[in-house]
Parts: sequence; structure tokens; C-alpha cells
Amino acid sequence: MTRLTVPADDLFGLHNLPYGVYSVPGREPRVGVRYGDYVVDLAVLLGDEETFGVSSLNPFMAQGRDRWIEVRAAITAMLTAAVPAQAVHALGSVTLHLPFEVADYVDFYACEHHAANLGRLFRPDNPDPLMPNWKHLPVGYHGRSASIVLSGTDIVRPSGQRKGPQDPVPVFGPSVRLDIEAELGFVVGVGNEMGEPIAVADAEDHIFGVVLFNDWSARDIQAWEYVPLGPNLGKSFASTISPWVVPLLALQDAKVDTPVQEPAVLPYLALDRPWGLDIDLEVVWNGQIVSRPPYAAMYWSPAQMLAHLTVNGAPMRTGDLFASGTISGPDKDQRGAFIELTWGGAEPVTVDGQQRTFLEDGDVIDLRATAPAAGGKRLGFGEARGRIVGTGRGMAGA
Ligand code: MN
Repeated sequence: MTRLTVPADDLFGLHNLPYGVYSVPGREPRVGVRYGDYVVDLAVLLGDEETFGVSSLNPFMAQGRDRWIEVRAAITAMLTAAVPAQAVHALGSVTLHLPFEVADYVDFYACEHHAANLGRLFRPDNPDPLMPNWKHLPVGYHGRSASIVLSGTDIVRPSGQRKGPQDPVPVFGPSVRLDIEAELGFVVGVGNEMGEPIAVADAEDHIFGVVLFNDWSARDIQAWEYVPLGPNLGKSFASTISPWVVPLLALQDAKVDTPVQEPAVLPYLALDRPWGLDIDLEVVWNGQIVSRPPYAAMYWSPAQMLAHLTVNGAPMRTGDLFASGTISGPDKDQRGAFIELTWGGAEPVTVDGQQRTFLEDGDVIDLRATAPAAGGKRLGFGEARGRIVGTGRGMAGA
């Protein structure tokens, strides 16, 4: 047995304990929990090979909230005392893997600042930048779960059709307006039977945890294809998630009221106090922080998104992922997409001393975030990183 020492104010201290999947050379991936700069093997720690000696969090997530609470308490108790030495690995010595098997994936559009900014950019002649439905339901679209990749995976610049204002006919080629969307992803642990919607008040029995999410977006492809059925190939080539799933149980001290929702929402979306999360993000472009989007500004709450997703009876499954939509605050340096940050490319930002608008090959984007946690501490999310490589150069990059 060994005792692990982690500073009390570490972003990955006992107040966090996010889950992931790791491997060491010559062995299959297994579930681990991050504690400081250690990865602790949960099958060894808890003596449950069936649940944790596997390459995804799905079996554990499917066991439900009572079990999530029990396991978190057991991990905390053991890390406070002593742990089997063979359960412990240095973070730097392991390979991290996609932490869960992504079932279905939906992307929302829950930020009023972002939706209004894009409305102004895409529909400048409309007096109201929001569509008539926007404050009545959380708008979303179904995405491509197979395109969800782990932080560190290179992103190949997508090619597709586009038709700019000056183009008489559509042209084909690599996207010239490749963008990011800084979002959170919510991981469903327990789903619902078809025909039995999840009540907005019960969402915490279903949402297991939260990851950082970069919804890479080809704006030129998107602008030409999106009417009338919404985003398709401009989004479906890749989205990046962080390797550690922060349990919703660790985010209880980060809960905040959503902004006032006016007009009042329909009863199936209504809570006395709809809760958002006070999570502060950073968008890092080639090592330089260019934006600090505040999740607390989001109009629609995660519980409302999940209630809306299922109100028609649609079944959720363990491993379903729904993302929030781009997070933007009211200020310019809080915008979570470059199309907003640079106002459609008209107002470049300075990165490495250069005037920049959209992504170029070789660019590296990191998303990072912290949130308030128990005992006045802060917790961290793992990083969501991706590097852009040119079309046709393959996922291995150059
Ligand atoms: Mn998005």
C-alpha cells in the first residue's frame, strides 16, 4: 500500500476526481480516476474488474446515480488513506483513450449571445437576430458520433462545396473558413425507454458528467448547406473532447441560476430555479489565450436540453453525448467562436504578432476550463486540444 500526496488546492484534488480510460505499454485500456498527477486504476482500487477493468466508462455509467455516489465516496475514502501501489500510475506514463463509447450525439445552440451574434452575421436584414422559436425551445441538431475524437487527435481540414457572395456557381475545395466552437459536452449515464420522456427535474439521475468540447466548424461549407435542414458536412468531420469526464457530482458547488428566461417556458421545461454551471473556459490559439467564454451566461440549462431531447419519447442511451452549443459572453473577448470573435473575418485578432481570422494548417487550439468546487476550491477539466493539418495529409499529420 502507498499514500498519495496531492496539494489541497490542486485542480485535480479530492474535490474533482474525474474519470477516464488509460493504458500502459503492453496492456489493454482500463478505467482510471485522476488524482493530481496520478492515474489510479479503479478495478484494482475497488476490486471490481467487471465494471472498471474495461476500455470504456459505459458499464459504470449505466449503473446509475446511487452507484456513482457510492463509488465516489469509496474512492475518496481510499485516496485519503492508502491505496495498493499497483493501482497507481504517473499521469505522464500512461496513454489516454476516448473515455466512453459515444452512442448518439446532439449539438445544441443554448447561448443567447452566440445565437444573436450569428443571427446578425448570417441574417443582417432581420430586425430580430433570434429566430422566433429560440426562446421557446433549446434548438439543436443530430450530429455524427463516430466523428468525436480524443484531445490530441489531428484535425484534417475538410473539403466541400461552398458558394461565396461573389461566386456565380458553387465551387469545391478545402474549407477556407475553418473555425472552432468552445462548448461543454454532457455525457448521459442512464437513458430512458422509448416513449418515456425524462422530466426536467430528474436530469441529474441521467447526466453522468461533463467534458470540454470543440465543435470544429467549416463556416463556408455550413453557410451554403444549412438552409433548410441545418448543419451537416460543415460540422460532421470532427469534434474534440477532453479525456477526463468531470462527474456532475463534483460540480454541485458550480451550480448557478440560468439567466432569467422570458417569456416563460412551457411546463415540461420549467423548474423553479433552472440551474446552469459557473464554468470558466479559455480558448488558447497557438499558446495564446484569445477568449474566456463564461458557461454561466448560457440561456438553456443542461436539464432543459435533456428534457427537450426526450419530450417526444426519443430514447437516450448510455454514452449519449449532448453538447451545449458555442459558449459566448456579452463581451468581445468572451466569444467562443472565431466567426464571432473576428466578426465574420472583418475584425482580425492578433496571434503571434499576426492578424488572424480563421484557422490555418499547423494551428493548435486548446480549450481549458475551471469551476468552483467543494470547500472553496477550484477544479479543472482536462484539455481539449487539436491541430489542423492540410487536406489529404492523413490523420497522422505531418
Ligand atoms: Mn456547435
